[in-house]
Amino acid sequence: MSARSERDEIAVVGAGLAGCLLACYLARRGYPVALYERRPDPRTGTVERGRSINLALSERGLDALRRIGLEDEVMADALPMRGRMIHPVEGEPEFQSYSGSGDRAINSISRGALNNALLDAAAALPNVRVAFDHRLVGLDPLGGEMTFETPQGKVTATASVVLGADGAGSAVRGQLLAYGGLTESLDFLDYGYKELTIPPLGGEFALDPGALHIWPRGTSMMIALPNPDRSFTCTLFWPTHGTRSFASLSSPAAIEQFFATHYPDLVPLAPNLVDDYQHNPVGVLGTVRCTPWQVAGTVGLIGDAAHAIVPFYGQGANCAFEDVVELDRCLDECDDEWAAALPLFQHRRQENAEAIARMALANFVEMRDKVASPVFRTRKQVEHALERALPGRYVSQYELVSFSTTPYAQVRRRVRAQYAVVGAVAAGAVALLAGGVRAALGRRR
Ligand code: FAD
Repeated sequence: MSARSERDEIAVVGAGLAGCLLACYLARRGYPVALYERRPDPRTGTVERGRSINLALSERGLDALRRIGLEDEVMADALPMRGRMIHPVEGEPEFQSYSGSGDRAINSISRGALNNALLDAAAALPNVRVAFDHRLVGLDPLGGEMTFETPQGKVTATASVVLGADGAGSAVRGQLLAYGGLTESLDFLDYGYKELTIPPLGGEFALDPGALHIWPRGTSMMIALPNPDRSFTCTLFWPTHGTRSFASLSSPAAIEQFFATHYPDLVPLAPNLVDDYQHNPVGVLGTVRCTPWQVAGTVGLIGDAAHAIVPFYGQGANCAFEDVVELDRCLDECDDEWAAALPLFQHRRQENAEAIARMALANFVEMRDKVASPVFRTRKQVEHALERALPGRYVSQYELVSFSTTPYAQVRRRVRAQYAVVGAVAAGAVALLAGGVRAALGRRR
């Protein structure tokens, strides 16, 4: 594709995960790209305390990286997690494989390292310029004029297309809302999250690094993912307000008592527990929906800016990366006519974003309440047995979401159909069994 003129500069607002990857894809198409980020260069600064240090990357995200040759670099420090390790209040932890074959894994990777690798890749391209310390505060959707707050004061810039990749609290979305160009809904959970740390123990991982650890406790839940430095980052999910909530614990004694009661195996592994608890912030969790995702074919939203979801399926970043691949595909199909490509992108992605939003909410209940129950364990064993017996024909929802690029909406439809068939077969089997038992009892009389 030929290089485009200055007039065609595309502005990407937000040099987070989606924004950096998007800049790489657009630059590859020949566009001059301006990437604006409100923060200073993260490669030279320090990480904000207690803000989602690692995340699980799976097939959708890897596919997007693979297409532009970044998979190997990103995966070099990844830690594969082949299943869940369930920690009961008492007794030994139990491993549950994610796949029927037992060898498929999601990958724990450092959010900062991933962002920096993508930023490096974007900044190395001759047609990408990155402007840090540029917080978008104003946007004229029709003229493409943007206003940024910088340490030197307000500055303006224009672009032929402005793409908001500025996360769940998107300023671009806010500007479109103020302009009257879209409607949005924000559904916050009553739950928040706080990060805690399990440092290495004698230089080694204190828990099995090949699993995503879960402490399901009903009203509260904790997970832990391994880091390359052999520590684990734990995330405690708990209501933000009420008698049993983050707000209910303040004194060191109360914090110690809570963890000793509900998470006893964590206490000896987390020497900084009280300090982490007292100083790390409580993050909010919610689902963002808005429509349309574009205005006038010149301003669009992508990633969390268009559709933030709760993190319980580990799919937000994966979904944002998949958005980038789909937008690239739409530009291909529309001969780079943005006015056609942006609505097509929304048409293709919106039902998928809604599907993963719903599956992520449902997975919260599964992780918090169900994973420890014998019924859940049996269901998973049956599912894995069906997957082995009917390879490619019966595939669990988890596998389809995490280990394939089947569109999320299609996953939901397929899983519903699978459950209907399995339910009918199970009902038939029960009826047959009941008939047999009745007949046998009749013969005994
Ligand atoms: P962001 O990563 O939020 O990036 C937005 C960027 O825009 C930031 O750099 C920000 O500084 C910048 N910005 C914001 N406002 C402005 C402005 N006004 N001007 C200029 N720049 C601006 N996803 C997974 O796939 N797997 C997981 O395991 C996972 N775990 C998670 C755990 C937690 C606790 C949370 C909260 C989320 C998790 N996610 C996970 C979701 C994932 O973090 C997001 O979906 C992903 O970061 C979205 O990428 P993004 O680029 O759209 O937004």
